[in-house]
Parts: sequence; structure tokens; C-alpha cells
Amino acid sequence: MFQFRDRVVAEKIIRRIAGMNVDLTLMHVCGTHQDTIVRYGLDVLLRKQGVRIRQGPGCPVCVTTTTEIEEAVVLARRGKTIATYGDMLRVPGASGSLIDARSEGAKVKVVYSITDAVKLAERTGDETVFVAIGFETTAPATAITLLGKPPENFSILSCHRYLPPALESLLSMGELKLDGIIEPGHVSTIIGTKPYERLSVKYMLPQVIAGFEPLDVLMAVYMIARQTQSSRAIVENEYARTVREEGNLKALRAMSEVFRPIDSKWRGFPVVPGSRMKLRSEFASYDAEERFREELGATIGAEFSEPSGCGCDRVLRGLIEPRECPLFGEACSPERPVGPCMVSLEGSCNIEYRYRRSSQI
Ligand code: SF4
Repeated sequence: MFQFRDRVVAEKIIRRIAGMNVDLTLMHVCGTHQDTIVRYGLDVLLRKQGVRIRQGPGCPVCVTTTTEIEEAVVLARRGKTIATYGDMLRVPGASGSLIDARSEGAKVKVVYSITDAVKLAERTGDETVFVAIGFETTAPATAITLLGKPPENFSILSCHRYLPPALESLLSMGELKLDGIIEPGHVSTIIGTKPYERLSVKYMLPQVIAGFEPLDVLMAVYMIARQTQSSRAIVENEYARTVREEGNLKALRAMSEVFRPIDSKWRGFPVVPGSRMKLRSEFASYDAEERFREELGATIGAEFSEPSGCGCDRVLRGLIEPRECPLFGEACSPERPVGPCMVSLEGSCNIEYRYRRSSQI
């Protein structure tokens, strides 16, 4: 791993980028990339070379909508056991968060995987709903679990999403002039390189799939800069040590057996066509939205406003940096988060706060 943190090589790549004399705005869509970029100060280094990098809609907790959170809160208050990742507990729904529901006596359990959630259902016999979030990275585990016929008292609230449709939505809105996208290595390990190709063609946009070490990110920036210099717009794979052109066929098969794409809102986005993974009808008994439709009532599909003053919608579209939100650091902190970008460890506000709370950078 340490070969990917080699300072001498890093300086060499940065000198190459500096020699190109570029003026670029790039986006990435991954909390792990953001962590690497901020932790190692790559954004500061690169800004001096004319490269600005923004995080887009790449944090699964952050893009999950208030409506979906509210559905989980409603089910918790109606006596279901909610199993979810720790980050989800403090994201506000319309009538409070899951942690609020827990403090009122609801059963809300933190799990580390869907396997833990299934074991919880088996052990307790309780009606257990797993809040399934994440992109193509985590969806295969959900699909494989459901194909394995978990117990009847188990279901999922599927908040899983396909990443490429959100990229297309972002580009079609045209709010931010982007010169390239650094694509996430883990999602790409599953979907391969092809789903990005049409975006490069349609929007004349260089894209580079990158790993998560500092040198991976620097190389991705260099490769995008090289494309822009030669007026090319293609998909390149910096993370070839893991990502194959065809992706992970077994995982893709499992996903397509279990899920079908439906139009869906993302936090900060209008409805994104074909972007949410809905369970196919054969798996309806595991679909919490279908199974508890009556109890969820009007919550399904309801529109809720974002927390007052929260800039997460603009952060997620790459329009502002966390520090440009007036609430950052004062009214909103990891201890008292207002929006999901401050709650999640993958959220750009949380990452900025953790690494450089008091810095003036
Ligand atoms: S600082 Fe808080 S309120 Fe502002 S965008 Fe970030 S999470 Fe939302």
C-alpha cells in the first residue's frame, strides 16, 4: 500500500500537472476519494496547480432522501425492528431521526452488514427491516442475501441506487462546468468501465476510474489533464489492478435478478430516471415498502422540505464547498448535525470538519 503514498512519485506527478498549466474543475463521486483528498491535502496542492476538485453525489447516506429516512422512522415507531448502519441513525427525517425514535422506545439496531441484520431477525423473531443504502458496491450483497431466502420476518427498505444515472442527471443540468470526473474504484469494480462511456461521448467529458490512495487520485487528475490537453474525452482506468472492463459479472447478475431500476429522487436532485433499485415482484415479500404499504401510507412518495438553511443539496451537486454553507462548523457540526453531509463519515462536510475544523484553508 505504501508504494501508493510515495512522496517522491507524488511530487513528480504534481510537477507534471504544473507543467501543463491547466485550469480545470473536476468532480469525484466517492466519500473515500474525498477522505483521501482532504486527509492528504491534495485539494490544496492541486488548487495551486489550477485544478479544483468537488465532491458530487457520492455519499450513500447523504443522497438518501428525507422521505426514505422518514419511512424508516415511521416503521420504527410502528413496532418494526430497524437494522441500519450507524451513520443513518442521526440523519433527520421529516418527524425526527431514527435515534429520536429509539429514544422514544423504538427498536433501532446498528448493524455492520446485511448478514448481521438477517441474524438479528433469526435470533429475535421480530419483524426486522434492514435499511439498505449504497450504490452498486453494496447492492450485490443485498441481492445475494435475498437470493438466499432469508427468514420471513426479514425485509429491506431499498434505498440502493445506480450511480451512472445520477452522473447523467448532473451533467444534463449543466449547473457546473466540469472538465472531467474521477470515477469511484469500488463501484467500477462491479459495473466495469462501459457504463461511463456514453457520458464521455455525449458530454465530451474525460473520465478516469481511480483507486483510493493519494497516488491514485493524483494520477487520475494527471490523466484527465492529459486528455484535456489533447482534446480527448474517453474513459480511462487508473485502477486496473482491480477494475475490469466487464466488471463483476456474478455481482451484476445477482443485482439484475433481484432489482429493477425505477425513477427516483436523490437528495439535492430532481427525479433521476432509472436510478433507484426496486425489488422485482418475485421479491415483493422482502420489500418493506410493499409489505407495510398500509402502515407507511402517505409517507411513500411524500415530498418533505430539507432542514432549514442546510446547503446539502448544493454540496451534493458540487455547487458549493462545505465551508460556503453558512451553518458549517457553528450551527452544524458532527455533534449537532443539521444535514446528512455532516452526519456521514463519507459526507464532505463531516470530512472537512474532521480534518480541518479550525484551519483557514
Ligand atoms: S454544513 Fe451542515 S447544514 Fe451546511 S451543507 Fe453541510 S451538512 Fe448541510
